[in-house]
Amino acid sequence: MKYIEWFEAHGKKHATIMEKLKNKSDAEVIEYFRFDNMVKEEPEFCPLYKDNKKCHDYDELNCYLCACPNFRFDDNGIKKEEEKTVYSTCGIDSKDGSLYIGDDYIHQNCSGCLVPHKEKYIKKNFSRNWFDIMKNVNQAK
Ligand code: SF4
Repeated sequence: MKYIEWFEAHGKKHATIMEKLKNKSDAEVIEYFRFDNMVKEEPEFCPLYKDNKKCHDYDELNCYLCACPNFRFDDNGIKKEEEKTVYSTCGIDSKDGSLYIGDDYIHQNCSGCLVPHKEKYIKKNFSRNWFDIMKNVNQAK
């Protein structure tokens, strides 16, 4: 699946849930998006939910800002590095991020990074419009 396909589909799912939560406070919305609640209430939101599996081994995992406002992608390539095409990067160069490097591609690997999954960060960057928070993610113009 291309990044853009996932991005558009995920944003729509997020918006559908937000419509359902329109009468809840911001704090209640953030609480609703906790992994343990989402697995029960929104099984279609993430393919990992059906196996009760987390993308990150973190007790307080919150799914509100999946993927991450700092992620950058372009399905046509952001840039070239030697012979490889870089399809995704981290906008803040997180010390916990790493790279998937193949023969002709590089993708950002966020599996070791908890930045967008902590509620302190979500509160600080909160908007009820997921596409608004993610406005810098899609680098394809
Ligand atoms: S490494 Fe962390 S901060 Fe950077 S894009 Fe990935 S999840 Fe976001």
